[in-house]
Amino acid sequence: MCGIVGYIGDKNCVPILIEGLKRLEYRGYDSAGVGIINTTECKVVKTKGKVSELEKLVYAEKIQSSLGIGHTRWATHGEPSTINAHPHLNEEKTLFLIHNGIIENYLSLKKGLEKEGYKFNSETDTEVLAHLIDHYLKLKHSLFQAVRYALNEVEGTYGICVIYKGESDKIIAAKKGSPLVLGIGNNENFVASDVNALIAHTKQVVYLEDGEIAEIFKDHFTTKTISDETIIKEIFQVEMGIDEISKSGYPHFMLKEIMDQPESIFNSLRGRLVLDEGISKLGGLEGFEQRILDSKRILITACGTSWHAALVGEYMLEQYAGVPVEVEYASEFRYRNPIIDKDDTVIFISQSGETADTLAAMKEAKKKGALCIGVCNVVGSSIARESDAGVYIHAGPEIGVASTKAFTSQIAVLALITLLLARRKNLSLPEGQEIIAEMKKLTDKVGTILKQNDLIKEISEKYSNARNFLYLGRGYNFPVALEGALKLKEISYIHAEGYPAAEMKHGPIALIDDDMPVVFIATKDSVYDKVISNIQEVRARKGRILAIVNEGDTQIEKMVDHVIKVPKTHNMLTPILTVIPLQLIAYHIAVKKGLNVDQPRNLAKSVTVE
Ligand code: GLU
Repeated sequence: MCGIVGYIGDKNCVPILIEGLKRLEYRGYDSAGVGIINTTECKVVKTKGKVSELEKLVYAEKIQSSLGIGHTRWATHGEPSTINAHPHLNEEKTLFLIHNGIIENYLSLKKGLEKEGYKFNSETDTEVLAHLIDHYLKLKHSLFQAVRYALNEVEGTYGICVIYKGESDKIIAAKKGSPLVLGIGNNENFVASDVNALIAHTKQVVYLEDGEIAEIFKDHFTTKTISDETIIKEIFQVEMGIDEISKSGYPHFMLKEIMDQPESIFNSLRGRLVLDEGISKLGGLEGFEQRILDSKRILITACGTSWHAALVGEYMLEQYAGVPVEVEYASEFRYRNPIIDKDDTVIFISQSGETADTLAAMKEAKKKGALCIGVCNVVGSSIARESDAGVYIHAGPEIGVASTKAFTSQIAVLALITLLLARRKNLSLPEGQEIIAEMKKLTDKVGTILKQNDLIKEISEKYSNARNFLYLGRGYNFPVALEGALKLKEISYIHAEGYPAAEMKHGPIALIDDDMPVVFIATKDSVYDKVISNIQEVRARKGRILAIVNEGDTQIEKMVDHVIKVPKTHNMLTPILTVIPLQLIAYHIAVKKGLNVDQPRNLAKSVTVE
């Protein structure tokens, strides 16, 4: 699930591996390790905890080598501990394996290996694979073949790298369901689970596909499928620069990414607005528009924050494009045997494009003949590659585990898709042009909200001791309420719930007392008066109220404890503005509590296990 980096070349791999692991830290992890092979020794250094700890331990060993692999683990099988950290080894300590993913049949494989006399040190599923490869090496197969044979017995998901003393001129890498990318250098090659770990060294990359296995030497590489067919891979050029994955002077990636939003939203919309025709232009959907419009319905499936964006998408597509839309958690969709066929369009939203549940849901929908559209941020990611059509959100790398700029860009892209479809149906030219005009103003409007950061910080800190929060909104602001609550939970560990404001009286109202902060998202829209009634209901029960309102609103201000003002925009674009104060509230409360904002406990950035 987390980080893999490998190096083979002429340089000392130690700083390359440590630097690479640091660039993968944002993905969330609980332990880390490196395995290094040189002419005299095979060395493994592992630790529970941070890469900075590992760094000290590795440098203390004073090892140098031009072949090595490094890993950050997000424990699935066995607690986070030094023993369970990767690499895992064979008994002779000459074979090192790092693995992201889950080997589902590890227990039955383990039993077989135990019968042969193999002993296990860790509780992990990964160690079983290390011994299984060793088993095939002992049958006199080459490392490549041994890995290939072993993988043919594995059920589950993996991104793996293997190095072996007996064949120390190569790294073997293989992938199924967990991302892996090769970095092609000059007399040196790299492998990693994420291009972020490579771009300081090379921009030439090769994406491995599921069921592929690579033999990486310092000056070339070869690829085969795990059923032994040779394949020729295309080399891609990565556009991203190293400055895009640094904090640019901000204390946290999350704050940087919140502050990035005028630009990231601009980038999502750039080149995609045709004002004269009041329509959007999306290259990735060209030729598919009619098929989408002819669909019986559109299904949007996603997880976490992307699922909240999907809910906004449902509201806009139904209201403006007049197509029936359903939204479903990808994890439910994939196991529910959903009724879906070639007359359906399914949109898959995932920042990383690697979310295991969303990817599996896509495979299921494809099997049933539906048109599959990916909405991803990471260029070249699995969902982007495997979907029939798609739109990149172009938010730029998102490193903070709690998603912020990807959310607003996902909504911007869903608005573009809505505009494209709506104009082909009933939306008039002036209405289309009005939406475009409002889209063009978003950058400035987002900037206006961000300028209030000091005020938002001051207000947020007043609430930092609360143990529970309620977030309420209606219409387009209902998914925003869910997202605001999720942000707070993720990074401040305060229990928070989002609800449609009117639902409050069907249960959560019982929780309200003078200890319970309630955040209302109450912009001037068609349900404004209704939300005011809900505010009164909370006030009558002495709840503390913080409201997100429109500039110029004087009514709500008089009823609540604090207000944060956002500019007015087209109603379907409202979530892009109203979510920003909520991102900042979560951020400032977490910082006030002294928490690790960019790497909250137990969370991973790209959830590549189900
Ligand atoms: N399943 C493996 C373990 O628990 C790998 C976890 C990961 O993806 O980091 O060790």
